[in-house]
Amino acid sequence: MQVKILPKDPLVAREQGLWPLETPLSIATAHDGPTSARVAVIDYNADLDTRFASAKALKNGKGFHGIARLRHNRILDDFNFHQVNAWAIVEQILTKMEGEYALARPIPWASGLGRLLILPHAGYQENAFYDRGTGALHFFYFEGLDGKPVYTCLSHDIVAHELGHAILDGLKPGYNEICSPETAGFHEYFGDAVAMMSSLDIDEIARIVTRGAPARLSARNLVSAIASEFGAAIHRLPDEAYLRGAWNNRKMGDLRGTFEEHDWSEILTGAYYDLLEYLYRHQLESRDDRRGLEGVRGVGERQRRCIQALFGAANKTSNIMLRAIDYCPPVDVRYEEYARAVIRADEVAYPTDPLGIRAQLRRIFRRRQIGLTNENTGARDQTIYELRATADIDAITATPADAYRFLDQYRALFGIPADANLRVPSVYRTNKRAKSGYRPPKERVIEFTWSDDVRLEGRRFGALAGGFLPLYCGGTLVFDGNGNFLHSSLVLPTPQRRRALLAYVAFLVRDGRIGVVDGARGIGAPGIDSFPVRAILEGNRVRLERNAAMRHGRPGDGHP
Ligand SMILES: [Zn+2]
Repeated sequence: MQVKILPKDPLVAREQGLWPLETPLSIATAHDGPTSARVAVIDYNADLDTRFASAKALKNGKGFHGIARLRHNRILDDFNFHQVNAWAIVEQILTKMEGEYALARPIPWASGLGRLLILPHAGYQENAFYDRGTGALHFFYFEGLDGKPVYTCLSHDIVAHELGHAILDGLKPGYNEICSPETAGFHEYFGDAVAMMSSLDIDEIARIVTRGAPARLSARNLVSAIASEFGAAIHRLPDEAYLRGAWNNRKMGDLRGTFEEHDWSEILTGAYYDLLEYLYRHQLESRDDRRGLEGVRGVGERQRRCIQALFGAANKTSNIMLRAIDYCPPVDVRYEEYARAVIRADEVAYPTDPLGIRAQLRRIFRRRQIGLTNENTGARDQTIYELRATADIDAITATPADAYRFLDQYRALFGIPADANLRVPSVYRTNKRAKSGYRPPKERVIEFTWSDDVRLEGRRFGALAGGFLPLYCGGTLVFDGNGNFLHSSLVLPTPQRRRALLAYVAFLVRDGRIGVVDGARGIGAPGIDSFPVRAILEGNRVRLERNAAMRHGRPGDGHP
């Protein structure tokens, strides 16, 4: 079918002429709503207690009623277009991420339901968020600088970013727990990476970014500036219109003692853009003539080469950076572990590295001060040897219970404490491909978690003092289809992690971010919904829960 998608947002549409574009979409199950196998739009507005009429699919299956004829400014006010736009962006990203060049498997929703819900006009607020509890992406609208409504569901970046949260929550539900500012930052990074990936899939955006056939990507462009209209409206900055960007030079050292997740996210968002920038230059220079753009006649031909280079670089970057998620631990991901996962996952998928990507990745991570130890391949060989007598990998990974039997048998080998009561939240397989035609090994992945207790002692924990908080631990094991061990990532209950968790929780208390709910009596602090984190007290146990609506700041002055 053909649908229309707004490539960036209404501000950029007006300033750069980037209006909704006809886009082909092959979704066999599309119905009124739109609704499809994995996604359903429900246009319910809780403030007005109204459900807006949903877009009707054309009988011939080629699109939706009444949208094709709408002209520029009219279309941006049309609620049916809003519904189709958000739905189509979600479908496009899902198709790409589940594809064989990316994750090569269906992405589960953390709600446990088959469909992710989209509420394009959830109510009046400066906010947009993903909520596992409702299994939905909630998009709000508010009054912009010019007095006209700003619909967050019309911002491609915001839709992609919120979907990124939903995807990551499906893949790694443990990352939603309160563990560390790095893990919270990782969630934000993932959303921004999905937004950049999605922008770079659009021809018109590529054309604007490569205008003038640049030999290098500029630091600030339509791709690196994320969520421009929303940022402009919130910061009251009509000219300096950008909320946040990937052009930063943030390093780990800059953030020592900082707990702000958006600051932490910028390190990885920056690293993502660093790789894109490198691969773009590399693609241009590695043309047959080895001279890049030199000697290429004609502006049109030069730009055509730049667009090709940008698409090539964008695909490689998203595959490398997002695929690595399978090699990350199920809880409390730290950037060193992620960097290690990026390099190892790439090595498995592309044993030869003619473009020197891994050496460049090491340079990028080093510049950002993300420590990387050299992989001990001897230890990997030793693990393979120790596992020589195990049962067939199909039997081990048949069900979570089978995987548990295997893990329990090899606790010592994988460093799992004898007293850890394991849960196996996920066992899955992949069947990835490389653009070169090379078929990487089919992966079998086992994820396991457990929790240890940390005592909150002292006045710095306020009302939580004296309680026990879970310290989430776990690991990920990756094997190939023959049962050969490929990678492991372990998160253990170390004294360092205990101290880091205590410092983080003390910060959340000090900064007034935690609202306390007495679980036994069901009584919450006044205005409990305005706290980013809820602490539920049950006896001497403390459970911390993220308030989805507050992930991006306070409703009313929220940040996307
Ligand atoms: Zn976010």
